[in-house]
Amino acid sequence: MTDSTIKLIDLLIIGSGPAGTSTALHLLKQDPAWSERMLIVDKAVHPREKLCGGGITHLGENVLADLGYGIETPNFPVKEVRLKYEDEHYSFRGDPVFRIVHRAEFDHWLVKEVEKLGGQLSQGEGVVDLTINEAAGYVDVVTDKRTIRAKTVIAADGSRSLVRRKLGINDGSHVARLIEVLTPETTESSWEFRDGVAVFDFSQMTSHELQGYYWDFPSMVDGKTLMNRGVFDSRARPERDKANLKTVLGDSMQDRDRELEEKQIKGHPIRWLDFRSTLSVPHLLLAGDAAGADPLFGEGIAIALAYGKVAAAEVTAAFAKNNFEFKRYKWRIFRNGVLFSVLVRVWLARHAYRTHRPKSIRLGWGIARFILKRTPWSRPDFVPARAPK
Ligand SMILES: Cc1cc2nc3c(=O)[nH]c(=O)nc-3n(C[C@H](O)[C@H](O)[C@H](O)COP(=O)(O)OP(=O)(O)OC[C@H]3O[C@@H](n4cnc5c(N)ncnc54)[C@H](O)[C@@H]3O)c2cc1C
Repeated sequence: MTDSTIKLIDLLIIGSGPAGTSTALHLLKQDPAWSERMLIVDKAVHPREKLCGGGITHLGENVLADLGYGIETPNFPVKEVRLKYEDEHYSFRGDPVFRIVHRAEFDHWLVKEVEKLGGQLSQGEGVVDLTINEAAGYVDVVTDKRTIRAKTVIAADGSRSLVRRKLGINDGSHVARLIEVLTPETTESSWEFRDGVAVFDFSQMTSHELQGYYWDFPSMVDGKTLMNRGVFDSRARPERDKANLKTVLGDSMQDRDRELEEKQIKGHPIRWLDFRSTLSVPHLLLAGDAAGADPLFGEGIAIALAYGKVAAAEVTAAFAKNNFEFKRYKWRIFRNGVLFSVLVRVWLARHAYRTHRPKSIRLGWGIARFILKRTPWSRPDFVPARAPK
């Protein structure tokens, strides 16, 4: 194809995870004409597996509720989130505190909703390169099938973002490490399933100098009850030695009378959001994990859904003004309540994971328990999520 025969489209979204599909849904709900103006490409074909605990808090449910959706895929409602440190714990309660989905099903559902609204998706098409031609006002995105020319591009291509790498964005932003395994359980063998409890266990902060936690998330995959067990290492203090995540996972599972089979371990990073990060360049926005998520708990699904709302608003404003510099994107991001909360979490992570002294951690647990008792999160009937509009 010659240069002059490449068709120019208004928007190309790279990646159909929650950040990409949320952007598309926000645009399509605002103006159905976007169905003809944009394309989503993804190297994977849905339903695709995505390594993830699948926990979606009310922050994510609220973004979906504002779009008119409730979570319509099978999910496990968590009634209690237990934050544990050795023999101490405190709990968030709610109906539910959050929901655990199977990411392959959840992401596929969002993709199908985009398609129902006329959105066009090309699955099994991977981006391999891109060039921004600012003077001509477009981006050429090279995939393994063709070149797509777009006035604007949203890079929602995850933590290992190829777009970030190709653009040479190396702003020193931090990356958290995560590993997980799934173990088959029954409601009889596991009180977490029976009582609807998700556990965040911080005990390994002292024993293994972990800057994070071990988790137990009860989940349902294809009708089977599986415990999603994993380790989150924020690396909030990069100057300290790295904890051995396999050892942390193995030891934590042994405490629960479970054997770790190494071959089942899967790992993936999460990029943190950083105020100094590059989040846009002319004609291109980063969204979701490609931009950055939460280093305190590693929450990313709700964050990705929130990025979709902001990115859609930014693209709409750009076309209204015919100005694609995207200079106000960062400002728009931090005006969004969910994304602003991530900045607060960055600050908290840097402080919370600074210590590994038992006395300080126990003091923190005591204060948290005291405060929580005085909030709605102490009530089992508390419903934090809004109903769909
Ligand atoms: C082990 C683990 C557990 C986690 N648990 C939780 C949890 O319980 N709760 C929570 O909120 N968050 C959790 N997260 C984080 C969460 O998974 C991410 O924050 C979330 O998936 C980000 O969504 P996204 O749309 O930005 O990216 P992704 O979901 O990663 O989607 C990116 C998409 O881009 C596509 N893509 C990538 N490269 C290309 C390319 N070159 N060309 C075309 N397409 C491309 C991919 O195929 C993919 O579909 C966890 C993460 C890990 C690693």
